[in-house]
Amino acid sequence: MTSKTDSKVIDGKEYAAGLRGRIKTAVDDLSSGQDYTPTLAVVLVGEDPASRVYVRNKIKFTKETGMRSVEHQCEASISQTDLIALVRTLNADPDVDGILVQLPLPDGLDSAKVIDEIDPSKDVDGLTEVSAGRLTLGKTGLRPCTPTGCVMLAKDRLGDLSGKHCVIIGRSILVGKPAALLFLEQNCSVTIVHSRTQNIEAICRNADILVAAVGRPEMVKADWVKDGACLIDVGINRVKNPDRPGKTKLVGDVDYQDVLSAAGSVTPVPGGVGPMTIACLLRNTVIAACLRRGWDTPSVLDF
Ligand code: NAP
Repeated sequence: MTSKTDSKVIDGKEYAAGLRGRIKTAVDDLSSGQDYTPTLAVVLVGEDPASRVYVRNKIKFTKETGMRSVEHQCEASISQTDLIALVRTLNADPDVDGILVQLPLPDGLDSAKVIDEIDPSKDVDGLTEVSAGRLTLGKTGLRPCTPTGCVMLAKDRLGDLSGKHCVIIGRSILVGKPAALLFLEQNCSVTIVHSRTQNIEAICRNADILVAAVGRPEMVKADWVKDGACLIDVGINRVKNPDRPGKTKLVGDVDYQDVLSAAGSVTPVPGGVGPMTIACLLRNTVIAACLRRGWDTPSVLDF
């Protein structure tokens, strides 16, 4: 039996697994209908342990959904020129549909310059200037993955988001700004708050949908939350685990236990927004493969 608390939890792990299932259906249809299998190229520079874990999962899920994965592991000492040359080679390769350069890059490499070398039609992370421009102008393009995951989870819980007031805490290029544009695209009224905003709690208390993308452990408390609001917690913060001395645990930007009584629904950390990012990357790879060839985007990927 589901308890009242359980029913408030937005299970991103389950939604992402379902989305990967739909992606597999789309990939199988492309293989049988068009005799084509999309390919995602992943570029990993250096030995950052967290990046290695992310990349390993990306490769695993790419293959599980029936797509091809191509990996390029580069030394941390690679020059900017050589890294850009690799991106250009992948741009020119007709068999590559999506290019992912895992961030952060080691010191000495200019991430913004490298990312902007990616052909926008293969920009499955949605981070190039062209992709950001297309999102701003409401034109067809590849959308950033984590913010897309936030919208999917909110829509899955609330249905039509038209007219809802969405407050986004954070204005980063990676999450806050694109999330604001994506919720606007869903006909929400959007407010962005950030480190210079005054009366932030009062603004958040007006939110039907509250997206926290700050990087401050458990900042959002129950008295920031309107009764019944939908909380989407993007934050991933590693903190000391008070129950297990010497160990750490992951928490979000929302004080999960504290908000449960007030919130209508909330994404947990881990298991909320996190799993959506890779699933949306795979979805973008299929969309990129179709857009580049003038094929319809599979409707099974709609949300
Ligand atoms: P970021 O680039 O550091 O941006 C943080 C934003 O929060 C900034 O806009 C900052 O405002 C604002 N902020 C900082 N302190 C604040 C405060 N006290 N009150 C109000 N706003 C405040 O971080 P990000 O890349 O957006 O990431 C945010 C969090 O999401 C991090 O924990 C990150 O690990 C996580 N994340 C998760 C995923 C995922 O897959 N789930 C993906 C990406 C990021 P200013 O602009 O005024 O400085």
